[in-house]
Amino acid sequence: MRVGGSLRSTPTHRCPPTMSDAANPTLSYITPTATSPWGTYLAQVEAVLPYLGPLSRWIGTLTRPKRALIVDVPIEMDDGRIAHYEGYRVQHSLSRGPGKGGVRFHPDVTLEEVMALAGWMTIKNAAVNLPFGGAKGGVRVDPKALSRKELERLTRRYTSEIGLLIGPQRDIPAPDVNTDAQIMAWMMDTYSANVGATTTGVVTGKPVMLGGSLGRVKATGRGVYFVGRELAKRLDLDLTKARVALQGFGNVGSVTAEMFAAAGAKIVAVQDQYGAVYHPAGLDVARLAAVAKQPGGVTGYQGGEPLAPDEFWTIDCDILIPAALEGQLTAARARGIKARVVIEAANGPTTPEADLILRDRGIVVLPDVIANAGGVTVSYFEWVQDFSSFFWTEDEINQRLDQIMTGAFVQVWDAHLLHRVSLRTAAFIIGCTRVLQARAERGLYP
Ligand code: NAD
Repeated sequence: MRVGGSLRSTPTHRCPPTMSDAANPTLSYITPTATSPWGTYLAQVEAVLPYLGPLSRWIGTLTRPKRALIVDVPIEMDDGRIAHYEGYRVQHSLSRGPGKGGVRFHPDVTLEEVMALAGWMTIKNAAVNLPFGGAKGGVRVDPKALSRKELERLTRRYTSEIGLLIGPQRDIPAPDVNTDAQIMAWMMDTYSANVGATTTGVVTGKPVMLGGSLGRVKATGRGVYFVGRELAKRLDLDLTKARVALQGFGNVGSVTAEMFAAAGAKIVAVQDQYGAVYHPAGLDVARLAAVAKQPGGVTGYQGGEPLAPDEFWTIDCDILIPAALEGQLTAARARGIKARVVIEAANGPTTPEADLILRDRGIVVLPDVIANAGGVTVSYFEWVQDFSSFFWTEDEINQRLDQIMTGAFVQVWDAHLLHRVSLRTAAFIIGCTRVLQARAERGLYP
């Protein structure tokens, strides 16, 4: 891991708290709003401006992506039709190293969403001090409506199209919503076929037998638990008595629930795209995980009460964990939340307005750029292992993950006390400072 970017030397004197003219974030190709993903990302970056000192002259490198590629992904369907899907790969910043960030398959994917997700990857990788820039990709598709063969063709064609940008030293995709180890295997195979050499380091989150890392599948949820545990200690919140509610019960949500339950917490409510289920005495996480994979998701769980969609957000609990999509925790929902703590396992789940409401209500928010960094941290381990062709044990992976997540959390916690800002702004101060220091030291070419 890269050492450096000493936070002690961070200039903290105040600058006018607005984006400078040079950093004017207006872009011709998207129209963000106050609650849309890129608008949310920009508001979070803007909150950091007063803490950047002379580095603020470089802020424009954070308020626009370095490059954004839009591709047509045509595939032949099983019935002979030709279908076209829109795909994206955005490299938000390469200042600290190759691009790194997942690939999402979802019908609501847009360029704006992928840009914001790429921006959050830049901040996250820097906040955890991984030697990566930030990138993200996606295809606007409902993968559940495709056959397995169609999904494979879509993945391979998308990989070929973004082959212009990706590579083990350039930009390394990974799983995100609706993508998994199998999709990564197809991506790795396609890239390898195109370059004429097996190149395992081009993606992370691969199956273990293809150069994947032990512990990667559970890494994000495990990381959410590690930082949640640290936060709980500092807030005197006893996890053995804590009641936890989660939105999203896919890879991240289900593993996070498993980890908190193993620490003695009760998982009292879970919502997925099909509905929500509640039991004040706690849901059986293993049984719920099995049910969640079936059609109808968590609503098929026997032994809990169903909840109406908005009832979920007012449930009596201590810790609320959004682990689905961005923009879910709106201002209206923030007003009704009963939890003491929100841990953002999803990327960008809280709108800026909701963030302020939660702050005013004294609800602590542990932001996504720290909370869900466990996935990219073990992706970094996977990438390192692929380069050295030497693989670590699962215990080593989990211990190193704990060390990095806890270390990053402590830095964010200390910065939040030092600057008297939210944990989100503290994480952004650390992340933005590291990125802009790298940018300033590299300088502009020519
Ligand atoms: P996933 O596809 O495995 O699961 C997504 C879950 O969200 C499913 O349970 C789905 O039913 C639920 N969901 C979707 N739309 C919903 C809605 N409108 N209301 C309620 N629930 C809804 O995805 P994942 O990999 O678990 O990712 C979840 C979040 O975590 C995303 O924000 C992703 O960017 C973030 N994340 C994932 C990783 C990773 O390693 N997979 C790493 C960091 C961050």
